[in-house]
Amino acid sequence: MSLLSVIVPCYNEEQAIPFFYEEMLKSIKSFKEEFPDTDFELLFIDDGSKDGTLSVLRELKQKDKRVRYVSFSRNFGKEAGIYAGLSHAAGDYAVIMDADLQDPPALLKDMYRAVTEEGYDSAATRRVTRKGEPPLRSFFARCFYKVINRLSKTEIVDGARDYRMMSRRMIDAILSMKEYNRFTKGIYGWVGFETKWFEYENIERVAGETKWSFWKLLAYSIEGIVAFSTMPLAFAALIGLIFTIVAFIMIVFIIVKTLVVGDPTSGWPSMVCIMVFLGGIQLFCMGVIGEYLAKAYMETKGRPIYIVKEEA
Ligand code: UDP
Ligand code: MG
Repeated sequence: MSLLSVIVPCYNEEQAIPFFYEEMLKSIKSFKEEFPDTDFELLFIDDGSKDGTLSVLRELKQKDKRVRYVSFSRNFGKEAGIYAGLSHAAGDYAVIMDADLQDPPALLKDMYRAVTEEGYDSAATRRVTRKGEPPLRSFFARCFYKVINRLSKTEIVDGARDYRMMSRRMIDAILSMKEYNRFTKGIYGWVGFETKWFEYENIERVAGETKWSFWKLLAYSIEGIVAFSTMPLAFAALIGLIFTIVAFIMIVFIIVKTLVVGDPTSGWPSMVCIMVFLGGIQLFCMGVIGEYLAKAYMETKGRPIYIVKEEA
């Protein structure tokens, strides 16, 4: 017998979980027809929900022995939820699924075949459309993937979902990365292993609302870049170098000009502009450095990635 852990990070999903559970029961049934030797565990991670998510999970647990849950002491974010899920999973294989049914359970069989029979260590999904998403958000998302893939050596796939099935050795590799600032999309690329990709069209969530505001996504994307590239630091240095060279040329030009045509006192407004401009660039570069320093600072504290309040 082998065990497949289904990890479901949940934040305020009391409305979606019943739908998800019903849908999973159907999928497990049809899954079992093809793979009778595989058992399931449904591992819900309650990421400090403020609604009735935890009581819904307690009820499910009563009803179904395959259900387990881990409840956090507060909201630690989906990345922490994924990490907790992978560390608590007992399965030989694990799959991460959203509670809102945006990850079609119909793919489970194909993914399972990929990791058990076809020799892959990971079966991942990406959505090829972003239907139903605000256009501005899609635009920034595309820009983000272009930028991060230029900046980082680790491949980060555009449209990749967190819906992914992994073998035990890949799970252990991911768990060995204990960094506090977790950008899972980069971590998957970093650990390597063969991945089989499945594509599907975007599906809108069954119930409840998205937990990601524009600003949360922006902060997340900066986190991704800082975690998987140090190029912005090199850029800051490059800008500094360019301005030093330009300044040097300007100094030479002014000295020569003064010697040739004298020194009429003018150019005060342009001077102010230049000072403000350079001041701005300096502050920007300091900000970039500060961002890395802040991340390094948080890492050195060695804080836990999540804190469990209750588990069953
Ligand atoms: N989620 C979480 N912690 C958070 C935010 C979200 O565990 O702080 C979960 C959420 O309950 C859902 C999944 O992560 O199961 C994806 O979130 P959502 O559907 O809001 O994101 P979207 O699909 O819109 O990108
Ligand atoms: Mg969703």
